[in-house]
This record gives sequence, structure tokens and C-alpha cells, in this order.
Amino acid sequence: MDARILDGRALATELRDGLTARTTALAERGIEPHLRVVMVGEDESSLAYLRGMRSLGAKIGVRVSVDDLGHACDVATLRAHLIALDTDNDVHGVILQQPLPRHLSIRDIADAVPERKDVDGTNPLNQGRLAFATGTRFVPATPGAVMLILERSGAWPLRGKDVIVVGRSSVVGLPVALLALAQHATITVVHSATAEIRTRVRAADVVIVAMGKPHAVDASWLKTGAVVIDVGTTVIDGKLRGDVDFESARTVASEITPVPGGVGPVTNVALMRNVVTSAEAVILV
Ligand code: NAP
Repeated sequence: MDARILDGRALATELRDGLTARTTALAERGIEPHLRVVMVGEDESSLAYLRGMRSLGAKIGVRVSVDDLGHACDVATLRAHLIALDTDNDVHGVILQQPLPRHLSIRDIADAVPERKDVDGTNPLNQGRLAFATGTRFVPATPGAVMLILERSGAWPLRGKDVIVVGRSSVVGLPVALLALAQHATITVVHSATAEIRTRVRAADVVIVAMGKPHAVDASWLKTGAVVIDVGTTVIDGKLRGDVDFESARTVASEITPVPGGVGPVTNVALMRNVVTSAEAVILV
């Protein structure tokens, strides 16, 4: 079997066009959607991320600005800064760039991200809404991107499918599991303490991998015809590697996302979609 490629770049372009129509309509009413990225000191990966977001924003009509509070910023200062953005009417979306420096824990800060501008679903209130399957305006970007890709795969609808998620982080594994559960899939979440992972993965119709271990999953882990979504991104020798050994897995899977060019490009558009949705809400209130 040679798997069909689930092309994230093509999907991102398609979604981008839809967003541009929405930002054009907002511009006619004098509103420019505005994303504020809050950083606690710059590093190479956050600067690369920022460049990507700025370039995407310029294409679709979303302003991206940055508040860099510096490496030494303490919890109280960061919290106060985030809380103040709630009443800044010029800002529609707020994200806190992660990972944070070691002296800061996201657990002490997440609830300070303004709930109604929380475009990456960081605030525990928005995470809780996902758990209740009541829906939230702000599905976190990467889990949202995984679902956008699955919607266009042969695995959709997920109702009754066996879906396995490798990884249980609060930014990817756990929310993606909740979203798939809300689509009536049967979910297994595995992690570093799970026994017989490979056997469990081999039983699944849909395999979502977010473990941060480059090329850990190969064809021997997969049921013939499985749909494979690779969220992993690790830079090795200047190249981006996924958690799935693509060349091996494609011989068994029916559909698969590449890295790069799979989940990543859709993630950025999913985040911008939330910013545009937040700006549109200004008109509705
Ligand atoms: P994380 O917080 O480090 O979580 C990794 C998860 O994988 C943990 O739950 C961990 O288990 C599990 N795990 C690690 N090694 C394992 C093993 N050998 N067997 C089974 N489970 C294992 O990472 P993350 O933030 O979720 O990110 C995961 C990957 O996705 C990274 O490569 C990251 O760069 C990438 N990512 C990509 C995007 C994108 O847009 N494409 C966005 C976000 C993240 P424990 O909980 O037991 O430790």
C-alpha cells in the first residue's frame, strides 16, 4: 500500500482563502484582527515561530504584535500584563509563547490569559469547556489542526472508529483526545508509562502521534490501512523530523501526514482562524 498524503500546505492555503474573505469583511467595518504574542525572552524557536505568524498574518490581514517581557520576568508581572490585555480593545487574540523559562510554571499563569481572547485555548476555563464537549470558541490550534485534517480524511466521520493518541500533554495529546471523543470515536491515550504500546497502536484505525520522539513509530506499529497523523516536530541537523518514520509507515497506512508540510501549516491557520473569530465577536456584542 502507498498511503495518500494528507497535504497540510494545500489545506492551509484553502483555509487561508476563507479567512481572507472574513478579514476583508471586517476591514470594511474598520476592524483589523490583532494577535498579541506575549513572550518571556526570545529564543531561536520563538523568533522562527513569530516570523511564520507575521508572514501568515500579512497574507490574510491579521496584525501580529509582540510584547517581550524579558527573560527575568516574574510570575506577578507576567500575570498582570496578561490580565491588562483583557481590556485593551485593540487586541482580539492573546497567546503566551511556550515553553516558558524554567523559573515560571504555566500552571501559575494560564488562568491569567484573558478568557475571551484565549485563541490557543490555554486558560483552564477553555480547556474545561473542551472536556465538557460543550464546545469552546477557541479550540487550541494544534488539536484543532489535527481535526481539520481528519475531517478531510477517509477516517471521517470518526463515530465508532478506534482512535489512539500517543502522548497526553495538555497542549496536544489530551485536547486532541477530547475532540475525537466528542466526535464519538473510541479513544485510547498512551504515554511513557503505558505497557505494550505497539500492540495497542496496531489495533487502531486512526493513530495520532504527539510524543516528541523522532521517527519512533514505523510500519511495524500500524494496522494495514490506518490513518496516521504525525504531530511531532524535532529539529535534527537543521531538518524537521516527525515522530513517525514516514517512508516506512506510508507502506502500511492508507493516509498519512508528512513532516514538514502536515499538521504544522494547518496549526498556524487554525490559530489565525480563532483570532478572526474573536474579532468578529466585537461586531456581535
Ligand atoms: P510533551 O509535553 O513533551 O509530551 C509528550 C508526550 O509523549 C507525553 O505525554 C509523554 O508521556 C509521551 N511520550 C514521550 N515519550 C514516549 C514514549 N517513548 N512512549 C510513549 N509516550 C511517550 O510534548 P508536546 O508538547 O505534546 O509535543 C509533542 C510533539 O509535538 C513535539 O515534537 C512537539 O514539538 C510537537 N508539536 C508540534 C506542533 C505542531 O504544530 N506541529 C505543535 C505542538 C507540538 P508522559 O506524559 O508519560 O511523559
